[in-house]
Amino acid sequence: MPLSPELTTIVESTKGFMPVREAAALFDAATLATPGVWLEIGTYCGKSTVVLGGAAKAAGATVIALDHHRGSEENQVGWEWHDESLVDPDAGRLDTLPSLRRTLRIAGLEDTVTPIVGSTQSVGSWWSTPLEFLFLDGNHTEEVAQHDYSAFARHVSPDGILAVHDVFPDPADGGQPPWHVVQRAVESGAFIQLAVTDSLRVLRRLPGVDFS
Ligand code: MG
Repeated sequence: MPLSPELTTIVESTKGFMPVREAAALFDAATLATPGVWLEIGTYCGKSTVVLGGAAKAAGATVIALDHHRGSEENQVGWEWHDESLVDPDAGRLDTLPSLRRTLRIAGLEDTVTPIVGSTQSVGSWWSTPLEFLFLDGNHTEEVAQHDYSAFARHVSPDGILAVHDVFPDPADGGQPPWHVVQRAVESGAFIQLAVTDSLRVLRRLPGVDFS
């Protein structure tokens, strides 16, 4: 069953950086995951969160949406993907949390998605809950992308699903860190790749292989 027409409309109208084809592939990936806790790293205004939330609601799963909500480097003033309407004038900084809350409210997903406002370094330092689905779409610097994989992929349950966004094997198409993460996951033997849709990669955690 695909994402409902109502939620599809909300996904399309929510600010963010995920084309329709990848959103559909992300939904398909989520339907492979068993219910339990699903974690999204990098939420922004909630575009992909609605995709995951729609699948989670149908499956009886819970989505944790983790973001500091201050935007990535490319969202800051003077950068290519800056959106002035997302600036909190009081803080003088980006604040995408109100947009996320609105998105979840109109999507009817406030009981399905629990936002966490914080950095992945902070949350990763105490996170211990097993994950049936992990979506890595946070900061794309090498340091943070590798950190996020190290901190959270080890919690993916046997047969659990790992999805990675903005994977570009050719440097001409985009930054390399997410591609390095996918290579690391496959080379570790802990994950096998299931699907590729444009820049979205879907992998499955193999049972009986230690994470490294
Ligand atoms: Mg992305």
